[in-house]
Amino acid sequence: MRRPLVAGNWKMNGTRASVAELIEALRQQEVPAAVEVVVFPSCLHLAQVVSGLGGKAIAVGAQDCSTETGFGALTGEESATQLADAGCGWVLVGHSERRLILGESDEVVSKKFSAALECGMTPVLCLGETLEQRQSEQTLEVVGRQLARIVADAGIAAFERAVVAYEPVWAIGTGLTATPQQAQEVHAAIRAQLAREDQRIADGVRILYGGSVKADNAAELLGMADIDGGLIGGASLNANDFGTICRAA
Ligand code: 13P
Repeated sequence: MRRPLVAGNWKMNGTRASVAELIEALRQQEVPAAVEVVVFPSCLHLAQVVSGLGGKAIAVGAQDCSTETGFGALTGEESATQLADAGCGWVLVGHSERRLILGESDEVVSKKFSAALECGMTPVLCLGETLEQRQSEQTLEVVGRQLARIVADAGIAAFERAVVAYEPVWAIGTGLTATPQQAQEVHAAIRAQLAREDQRIADGVRILYGGSVKADNAAELLGMADIDGGLIGGASLNANDFGTICRAA
């Protein structure tokens, strides 16, 4: 069976002092052994979080990586090579804030996905539709297209070493959550799309839901058949709330 996964995306938050407090509070949380947990601090705090969470069963990931691996003249970028060296086993790829605010194309997302895999990291491929796209009933088409590009470039076998996250853009940071049924419908469609390539891989891939997951709605969402965990934004900055979500998974 698929092991539940709860991921905390800290986004562009934190100072050294507040991150130290969050690490300390996370260390106090009981995390069930059955649930895999990973946090994604800002790049600036990766080293602090990797060492601060040492010995605790919470892994650390990066929020983004360069399209390029290795080292070189690419000012301001971090390669998956460097992130892996810093102790990150995971990286978010194609978060909607990067796609929509920073203009990342499917091509760039696909290169980052492959770069992460090449460096032995687990990419968390984020997919999701805007409110306008949902209202015009394009959700499955949009998400399907985002996924198809990665499958075409990286191959279905890549999904043995990757995680997918469905995050409807209209639900991110808005307090509006997809209903469990709305989320389940998209998760099932994502899995079916992968199953058309390889049933076994589709059955094994974890698909997370993200978008206003909170301590009080997590159990219901994460209880759906094709929802294997959560990608948590705002609520992951509060260790008690995040711990509650981990225990609900
Ligand atoms: P919120 O949980 O704050 O809605 O953010 C979700 C998200 O974007 C996680 O990547």
